[in-house]
Amino acid sequence: MSSECLFCRIVAGELPSTVVHETETTFAFRDLHPQAATHILIVPRAHYRDAVDLAGNQPELLGDLTLAAGRIAEQEGLAEPGYRLVFNTGAHAGQTVFHVHMHLLGGEQLGLFGR
Ligand code: 5GP
Ligand code: ZN
Repeated sequence: MSSECLFCRIVAGELPSTVVHETETTFAFRDLHPQAATHILIVPRAHYRDAVDLAGNQPELLGDLTLAAGRIAEQEGLAEPGYRLVFNTGAHAGQTVFHVHMHLLGGEQLGLFGR
């Protein structure tokens, strides 16, 4: 837990969020500025800066994040129409919060990747 880190503070309950799912190792909440009809952020409770840092140190947590995404997709009625899971990594991808987070986007037809 870093008191400097926005998502550590959200996980700790020091800052408010709209929580949609929690497990022993993961925490999921609605994005403040949704980029799709449904936009949820899924984070490990533990602090890692990005997906590669996480994979190098606690790879099982990548599985935990993905399983949480599947549960949330069921819960939100997205499993059948489908949804997108994204890790922005570094500046060119637009990563702004350096506590690894999986974006779950869906609830409408999404555009293709690109610029
Ligand atoms: P990134 O651009 O780093 O991949 O994604 C960071 C995401 O966090 C953005 O989609 C942004 O809207 C979201 N975000 C930033 N600050 C907050 C906050 O205080 N609360 C919530 N719920 N989402 C936030
Ligand atoms: Zn953190």
